[in-house]
Amino acid sequence: MSLTDEQLAEIEAQRAATTETRRATVPALEDMLYRAVPVLDHGFVRVIDYMGDDGAVVQAARVSYGRGTRKVSEDAGLIRYLMRHRHSTPFEMCEIKFHVKLPIFVARQWIRHRTANVNEYSARYSIMDREFYIPAPEQLAAQSASNRQGRGDVLAGEEAAEVMELLRNDAARNYEHYVWMLNEEGPDTAHDPGRDGLARELARMNLTLNCYTQWYWKTDLHNLLHFLSLRADPHAQYEIRVYAEAMIDMLRAWVPATYQAFVDYRLGAVTLSAQMLAVVKRRLAGEDVTQAGSGLSKREWSELEAVLAG
Ligand SMILES: Cc1cc2nc3c(=O)[nH]c(=O)nc-3n(C[C@H](O)[C@H](O)[C@H](O)COP(=O)(O)OP(=O)(O)OC[C@H]3O[C@@H](n4cnc5c(N)ncnc54)[C@H](O)[C@@H]3O)c2cc1C
Repeated sequence: MSLTDEQLAEIEAQRAATTETRRATVPALEDMLYRAVPVLDHGFVRVIDYMGDDGAVVQAARVSYGRGTRKVSEDAGLIRYLMRHRHSTPFEMCEIKFHVKLPIFVARQWIRHRTANVNEYSARYSIMDREFYIPAPEQLAAQSASNRQGRGDVLAGEEAAEVMELLRNDAARNYEHYVWMLNEEGPDTAHDPGRDGLARELARMNLTLNCYTQWYWKTDLHNLLHFLSLRADPHAQYEIRVYAEAMIDMLRAWVPATYQAFVDYRLGAVTLSAQMLAVVKRRLAGEDVTQAGSGLSKREWSELEAVLAG
């Protein structure tokens, strides 16, 4: 994570200031507020602001005049009921705002989640940092043979070294060309008065997708859970999953009852089709069901087997 001393000082100054409020606050999340949690080699995620807590979910579900909360166990029970039955609007009453620094190719996946408010660092206005995501050696894997959207075995030896070299060199070379085209005076760059320099909005097109971008990303709790359920899932690409995992720690601090219900009914749960359920019932009744007699395709069968074995 490459925050400058100045940025770190700004964060600490913001953390030092406190405001009295009548609104709900969550001490565990207050403790995390503004601090950047490192993700990947130069990225981070940090909470900038939030509205509501578990109590706000309960309050909205009961359409209360006051806080609306009762015993902790009753409130948790209601939250679990809402989660189980996909009664989602009470979760929309809480909001959270993150500041995320992430590689551009991860941002492309992330931005597909439309139910959020986003403001991204402008490479038309500012110069991109000289920072590239270079995977750790254990993440440098071959294409998966069984899953077109996944990774297989980790590359080794000479091939791994060569791939690493290409990633580093291509990113560095393209960045050098970017800086040359900009032709701007900077801490590490000189201005050549003999050239006009290309506009920032054009020069950026030459950068590699492993350059880091940044944005503020605000969403409500319901849509955050949807995002996390898709992106913390083992099917999600590692490079976005690590962000989702860091955000799940923040979720746990913010809304512990909602977090637990989410883990139990969403993250740790599976959906079975009607045919899959029929197979489970037949097996429970002692029948020896095979794929051929199950009504499931080979793929569905192996997915069911994986669920039942897991
Ligand atoms: C493992 C994985 C692999 C993927 N592979 C691909 C891929 O190969 N190619 C690709 O293009 N994308 C891919 N995606 C992206 C995926 O298709 C979704 O675009 C992304 O996950 C965002 O999900 P979402 O639309 O549910 O979220 P959001 O945009 O946050 O929307 C949340 C919900 O709101 C509703 N909604 C929002 N906007 C609309 C709308 N305009 N119309 C109707 N309903 C709406 C839907 O119910 C939606 O589920 C992949 C995602 C994952 C997790």
